[in-house]
Amino acid sequence: MDFAYDARTNELREQLLAFMDEHVYPAEPVLAAQLADPDRAPWTIPPVVADLQAEARKQGLWNLFFVDKHGIPGEHGAGLTNLQYAPLAEITGRSPQLAPSALNCAAPDTGNMELLAQFGSAEQRERWLRPLLDAEIRSAFAMTEPEVASSDATNVATRIERDGDEYVINGRKWYITGAMNPDCRILIVMGKTDPAAEPHRQQSMVLVPRDTPGVTVKRGMTVFGYDDADHGGHAEVLFEDVRVPASHLIGEEGAGFAIAQARLGPGRIHHCMRAIGIAERALELMCRRAGERVAFGKPLAEQGVVQDWIAESRVRIEQLRLLVLKTAWLMDTVGNRGAHTEIQAIKIATPSTVEWILDKAVQAHGAAGVSQDTPLAQLWAGNRTLRLADGPDEVHKRSLARRELRKYR
Ligand SMILES: Cc1cc2nc3c(=O)[nH]c(=O)nc-3n(C[C@H](O)[C@H](O)[C@H](O)COP(=O)(O)OP(=O)(O)OC[C@H]3O[C@@H](n4cnc5c(N)ncnc54)[C@H](O)[C@@H]3O)c2cc1C
Repeated sequence: MDFAYDARTNELREQLLAFMDEHVYPAEPVLAAQLADPDRAPWTIPPVVADLQAEARKQGLWNLFFVDKHGIPGEHGAGLTNLQYAPLAEITGRSPQLAPSALNCAAPDTGNMELLAQFGSAEQRERWLRPLLDAEIRSAFAMTEPEVASSDATNVATRIERDGDEYVINGRKWYITGAMNPDCRILIVMGKTDPAAEPHRQQSMVLVPRDTPGVTVKRGMTVFGYDDADHGGHAEVLFEDVRVPASHLIGEEGAGFAIAQARLGPGRIHHCMRAIGIAERALELMCRRAGERVAFGKPLAEQGVVQDWIAESRVRIEQLRLLVLKTAWLMDTVGNRGAHTEIQAIKIATPSTVEWILDKAVQAHGAAGVSQDTPLAQLWAGNRTLRLADGPDEVHKRSLARRELRKYR
């Protein structure tokens, strides 16, 4: 693996860094003001996001994650490798409320677009993928259920039953990111079509337009008290005798589990890339604060313990970045399956390491660190959820350990 960024990556990095300085960071207080506006229609995305999207698109900073391997008509995506995209996603992670959405590179739409590109029919791609690539609509991915331990996806209990030319869906989902937003028009729902089949062939995925009769978006779930309204919240959704045409099935019946696995692999690396950007921002804030704040006669930066936090943070960020870049390189060269161990390793290592760095940055700020006056508290809350979402740490460790042990059997 070559450690140097290639010419295209460097060019896009320069452009993106300038876009962050000129447009994204100045928009952060605008976003906060728009979110606090009492006249805002509930759960709508503040208009500053659309303004940034228009500018990003004009500059060609659009759908950078997307690679059309499936012959979708038209010009889509920048055609970057994972290794080229990784340092760009990292930069967007420095302002996670704004930058990924500005570039149309935000979860869960990215994973849903990749899923539709890979497994959707021509009709499904035309109807849903095309407007998603143009950010005309938003989407959500509905797997997790309050009643069952959803980290084991074979537990998912929502029923998807065939009835003539239709499927009928009944179940309850929660923490469905993006689904509070009225611009979220389509839900990819995972449920059971055949509870009698072997455990990994019971599930299927169907496309359910959010306005289908029987779909009730009940409430927005919070994350340590944050409603995450800037990217459409996390909805609890009830499905009661919801009917969709049979053509809304994605792939074939029984393929839901395999499709979910294929969707989550690239999604995990995107989260990790952005989390490294969060860590860089935290370290920068920690260094600035430690240099300015004086306690017991000298700046905090002159305390050995604070220097230890700063040095450790730098070491840990460099370790993470190398592992994430290696994983991206493996995904490009041997494919997602060949990079399975590394994808799990970064999913285990990144959120908890970034959590450690954020914690030190909070500590260095004193009370300001937990306040609304720095981004640290919200960054901490968002990053902490990554130890649960897309598979809890323990589940990845279990799977990685089993693969490791198999070598010695
Ligand atoms: C902010 C946020 C956004 C989310 N967005 C989405 C979304 O868009 N769509 C969606 O479908 N879901 C979403 N989720 C849900 C997320 O994917 C689930 O919370 C996650 O998969 C865990 O499932 P669970 O909550 O049912 O936990 P459970 O399955 O009940 O697990 C609870 C805990 O048990 C432990 N555990 C489980 N298995 C093992 C094991 N084998 N060994 C040891 N310990 C174990 C782990 O510590 C785990 O955290 C989101 C969650 C959050 C917090």
